[in-house]
Amino acid sequence: MTDRSDMARLAKLDAYIEQGGDRFVEWLGGLIARPSVSTTGEGSRACAEHIAGLMAETGLEARLLETDGAPLVFGHLQGNDAWPTVLVTTHYDVQPVEPLELWQSPPYQPTQVGDQIFGRGSSDAKGPVSAVLAAVETVLQTGGLDGVNLKVLFDGEEEIGSPSLPGAIARYGELLAADAVVTFDGNSLPDGRPLINFGGGGMLYLDLGVRTARNDIHANRGALVPNALWRMVWALASLKDARENILIDGFSDAISTISARDLSLLDSHPWSDAAELASIGAAEFLPRDGHSGNEALHLLPIVGIAGLHGGYDGEGVAAVLPSSAGAKLYIGLRHAQSPEDVAAKIRAHLDQNGFADVTTTIVAGTEPSGHRTDSALARLVESEVTKLYGRPAAVYPRANWYGRQASWIGSRIGAHACQISMIAPPQPNNHGPNEYIDISYLLRGIRFISRFILRASGLPRRGAADYGAVGPQL
Ligand SMILES: [Zn+2]
Repeated sequence: MTDRSDMARLAKLDAYIEQGGDRFVEWLGGLIARPSVSTTGEGSRACAEHIAGLMAETGLEARLLETDGAPLVFGHLQGNDAWPTVLVTTHYDVQPVEPLELWQSPPYQPTQVGDQIFGRGSSDAKGPVSAVLAAVETVLQTGGLDGVNLKVLFDGEEEIGSPSLPGAIARYGELLAADAVVTFDGNSLPDGRPLINFGGGGMLYLDLGVRTARNDIHANRGALVPNALWRMVWALASLKDARENILIDGFSDAISTISARDLSLLDSHPWSDAAELASIGAAEFLPRDGHSGNEALHLLPIVGIAGLHGGYDGEGVAAVLPSSAGAKLYIGLRHAQSPEDVAAKIRAHLDQNGFADVTTTIVAGTEPSGHRTDSALARLVESEVTKLYGRPAAVYPRANWYGRQASWIGSRIGAHACQISMIAPPQPNNHGPNEYIDISYLLRGIRFISRFILRASGLPRRGAADYGAVGPQL
């Protein structure tokens, strides 16, 4: 494209978005008005069908992809098999709205106050859903796709960890194949800048249990009968010492070092120990092995006891000792650690250390993921942010949260990926009462996504010489 025709196309995009702005805001209102609570399943299918209808209106081939849970909404436009394919994703499910009395307007009734629209999902992530659809329509109505194939995927279970997504990727593999994956979700930074991240942590949630007798025992038999809570406490204490060293054999095998470039990206972000401590109300941080706060937050694994239960917990004295005890472990996974592998290592550790009687059950698990911060996708996204926002985005090589969005999907399908947080304002009350979005953020997001779709024609295809390895930089 020549500079002049390029500028003319951008001007067309912006004019279309300006003209269509009220309608796009109405789309968002229509989505807010349709509950889609993944925790309970309330409204999910009806909302998905409504979105598929909007998607078809934009000009995409739209369909629902059935899963073991809420359906995925999928849209596709294939121009030419030789073109690169981008997969743009976010999620249409929302968190529950309770407690209702804290909302100043009904959560499922979109309510405009000045530049802000209040309602559940306005920012997380029905704003992004609306923005993606609006951007697609904008591109298709101002000259169409040229040089890129487009796929759009909206998950209906992100807020509960996307339990159906692994099965869906196995089932719909070809349909979801792409050369680049981008998710629009998450809040802008406090100074209004977009945040781009190239990876996510993982997690393993484990239930531990132990039983030492059929019944709880009279306390005066405590010298004779094993005490279940002591068994559990000793088993837990064998996992980590008081200096925070993780003692599970092979636990850190899959954690690699991070590249100097990515480390300096992490350390370029503002961090204050004092401010963090004050906001948490803690006196000091754990030893962190020479890492800065940002590094510890994003790179160090976590072996946490999330709960410990058993025995008498009431007031006064009860002369009884417990025959069973339980614990919940939250394990924060990094880099290439897999939930199943770490669970197996914890099992082997307990067996080898005399705790074969302590049972382990996987409750939930999500794989960590990471992508290069110097891929063609990364360069494209960063330069488009700088052009549209007038300043660079913040770049995180790895996020410290977990979930199954672009980074995770990209790792599964073997494509470069990143997540862009720009459509929600800095403090949109996500997950809580009075969630809102700024219309100015929504419209600017539409401008960005439409530019991204246009520019994605320049991305290399998988297998091309300049594509580069998929995965984090080491
Ligand atoms: Zn979200």
